[in-house]
Amino acid sequence: MRIFKFGGASVKDANGVRNVVNVLQQVGHEKTLVVISAMGKTTNAMEEVVKAYFEEENHLDEKIQFIADYHKTIINDLFEAKNHEIHHKVNKLIEEFRGFLMWNKSPKHAFVYDQVVGYGELISTTIVSAYLQENGVPNTWLDVRELIKTDDSFRDAQVNWKKTEQLVKEKVDLNNLNITQGFLGSEENNFTTTLGREGSDYSAAILGYCLNATSVTIWKDVPGVLNADPRHFEETQKLEQISYREAIELAFYGASVIHPKTLQPLQQKQIPLHVKSFIKPTAEGTTVGKGKKIVPEVPCFIVKKDQVLLKLSSLDFSFIVENNISEIFKMFHDYRLKVDLIQNSAISFSVCLDNKFGGISTILPELEKRFKVVCHEDVSLYTIRHFTDEAVESVLNGYDVLVEQRGKETVQLVVK
Ligand code: ADP
Ligand code: ASP
Ligand code: MG
Repeated sequence: MRIFKFGGASVKDANGVRNVVNVLQQVGHEKTLVVISAMGKTTNAMEEVVKAYFEEENHLDEKIQFIADYHKTIINDLFEAKNHEIHHKVNKLIEEFRGFLMWNKSPKHAFVYDQVVGYGELISTTIVSAYLQENGVPNTWLDVRELIKTDDSFRDAQVNWKKTEQLVKEKVDLNNLNITQGFLGSEENNFTTTLGREGSDYSAAILGYCLNATSVTIWKDVPGVLNADPRHFEETQKLEQISYREAIELAFYGASVIHPKTLQPLQQKQIPLHVKSFIKPTAEGTTVGKGKKIVPEVPCFIVKKDQVLLKLSSLDFSFIVENNISEIFKMFHDYRLKVDLIQNSAISFSVCLDNKFGGISTILPELEKRFKVVCHEDVSLYTIRHFTDEAVESVLNGYDVLVEQRGKETVQLVVK
């Protein structure tokens, strides 16, 4: 069994869906499980529905309508028959989450979020499955919530591997083409859970692990893993092959082409991961596998913007690491502040944090009661793997370096 994953960018419009069929026809689709994300930016639009539900109820209908219209345009373009049953199927899904929001009484944001946003994936897979069928590619649509079981940490659900493995083995038809959703799972009571934003790569890896897949391929709008994000760097180079270790390091530091959680299950079973272009499906992409040396051996650049650098010093000259560090980290954890770099001295401690959820403003007053705090907002964190002096020089141009950390393979710079 092979696993394919198509992300939002690959199915953002009708031509994208046609291209997915085209890719499957070119590379073959026997004994394949295809994981698909929500179309284009649907998950963001779904988040707006949830926001309207909690904060501005008078906008709720219009936010839902936006999602309905977006998918209707794609369906009208793909299916000629005005009364094709796909219209009914998709309307039913939209009415399902509208209905949920009408009768729901739970005030729990994360719970409501997961019950709603996952409809992006349910709708996209329903459309793609029907379109494949229509074009002579028979397939089985699977509800991934009946396969991937998780705990009830809504928005960041943790996989129950034992149950998942059992269900996947029971329910996936190994001789056929299967279509299912990324990003989703379900908890013990069958409520929908999500695996974290951008989590569909991880879904593909989970299913690959459970099926002992021969390979997992994630189809992207880039030729493979490049040595830098082409949105932020000019003159990027494609990496032909990298090790699991290299891939997990790159993803962890922020190379968003692969979700960082994807690598661990694949590495455990030594399942090769291919990152390939959905625009040029027969071109060689990047292969991630066991013991593969990085080829070509070039510096790899990763930038994370919108970071906050905090420098905390003890007020009474006490040692910072011995006396305070566990408490500080607990606060970061509680406010979902991801730590990207740390550096400490005897009485001070610098930490670069991802301020994605805006938690900084809440913890600053708390920290200021106990420490001398210097806070630099809006800094960028550059990570260079396999760095050279030239590579370091090239990212510095005119920036102020606030923190620099060098290891054997990796240099990290916090700049403003
Ligand atoms: P998906 O459609 O699966 O959600 P993403 O948009 O999440 O795909 O990932 C593809 C994007 O990742 C590319 O368009 C590119 O801008 C970005 N990216 C970041 N770092 C890298 C890298 N090192 N190599 C290739 N692409 C990268
Ligand atoms: N649709 C989800 C998201 O946008 C999951 C994914 O695309 O990987 O976060
Ligand atoms: Mg994505």
